[in-house]
Amino acid sequence: MQQAVRVAEAQEMVLGCAQPVGVEKVALLEALHRVTAEEVAAQRHIPPEDNSAMDGYAVRHSDVAGATRDHPAVLEVLEVLPAGKTPHHRLTPGTTSKIMTGAPLPEGADTVVQIEHTNGGDAQVQIYRAPRLGSNLRRRGEDIRAGECVLASQTFLRPAELGVLASIGKAQVLVYQRPRVAILATGDEIIDPGEPDTHGKIINSNSYTLAGQISEAGGSPLLLGVAPDDREVISQRLASGLRADVLITSGGVSVGSFDYVRECLDAFGFQARFWTVAVRPGSPATFGMVGRVPVFSLPGNPVASMVTFELFVRPALLHMTGRRELFRPRLDAVLQDTVEKRRGVRTLLRGVLHQGDGPATVTTTGPQGSGILRSMSLANCLIDIPEETERLQPGDTVQVMCL
Ligand code: AMP
Ligand code: MG
Repeated sequence: MQQAVRVAEAQEMVLGCAQPVGVEKVALLEALHRVTAEEVAAQRHIPPEDNSAMDGYAVRHSDVAGATRDHPAVLEVLEVLPAGKTPHHRLTPGTTSKIMTGAPLPEGADTVVQIEHTNGGDAQVQIYRAPRLGSNLRRRGEDIRAGECVLASQTFLRPAELGVLASIGKAQVLVYQRPRVAILATGDEIIDPGEPDTHGKIINSNSYTLAGQISEAGGSPLLLGVAPDDREVISQRLASGLRADVLITSGGVSVGSFDYVRECLDAFGFQARFWTVAVRPGSPATFGMVGRVPVFSLPGNPVASMVTFELFVRPALLHMTGRRELFRPRLDAVLQDTVEKRRGVRTLLRGVLHQGDGPATVTTTGPQGSGILRSMSLANCLIDIPEETERLQPGDTVQVMCL
């Protein structure tokens, strides 16, 4: 039996092996939650020219200074400027143009008076109040200046960033490719949901939780179904899984009599980086490379599968998709339960984090067996208990990983 590595070492080994697959240009609508693989600079000013921030009248400030309701300034209206129309007339003393929000400012104008402070006239207008010089304008380039870098490379694209890209006229953006991640479930006892349920069978949940976790981490899941505990079938499926960018196997990596995944992988020239990790749940997690393909063999227990994905696969996929932030946010919380654990093994308990006024508190989700998948569904965090700790009691401070 190989020596178990610590979680942090295992994570380092994984990140050392995971490399981006490539980059591709995608249309903006496909770019949500992708990561830029180029620095994006604006080709033009936003806004492209001075324009009005209000519906009102473009004026020369000196023409309206001192205007009141009793002594309005009276100006001749030269034209009406809807948004998108280029002004034809330059303002001369005593003139104005009626202007809508977003319309370019006519030459000679330095201020916009909002329509509420006028009588709204079309040929002639009475101005009842003078705003400050330069009011109600959006200046050329005040949002973004031409040549300015608007998005650094490796920026995670949220709706706001899609808007920024659209506003500078960029219809396509270079992003990291999604790695295709094959999932092979194993086990004679495993059937897929919807198959006739016979005695002693267990329904495949790991393929589905893994697929969801892969998608959330920016990968494309590729389901290879369930292989029985049969060396030949497992080997065939591994061969097709190895055509993906990453391969995950589920189950069959314990030391049971029918756990064949490891020996089948060896036949493909599997270069193991680690076989077991000092973590609970999830110690029989295995990682290595077959050629350029990272291969994770995760334990079959549903909670162990999810937790080991969190610890090892998720950071790898985020790294492969260009993300800079590879780990979940962590925070301190005050534990509400008593916990006992084995020394020397890092332990991740499913927890419910409460954040209100005052310090955050956390409770465990109850029974923590590694097959109790509901504990993951109830949880919003993992309570991360260090190797050396043996016992914790209510009131102790613990670190949690927010899911
Ligand atoms: P194994 O690692 O193959 O020994 O499996 C450990 C436990 O996880 C067994 O109780 C299996 O029935 C269960 N298990 C294995 N694969 C899956 C799966 N795809 N979905 C749900 N449970 C599974
Ligand atoms: Mg099995």
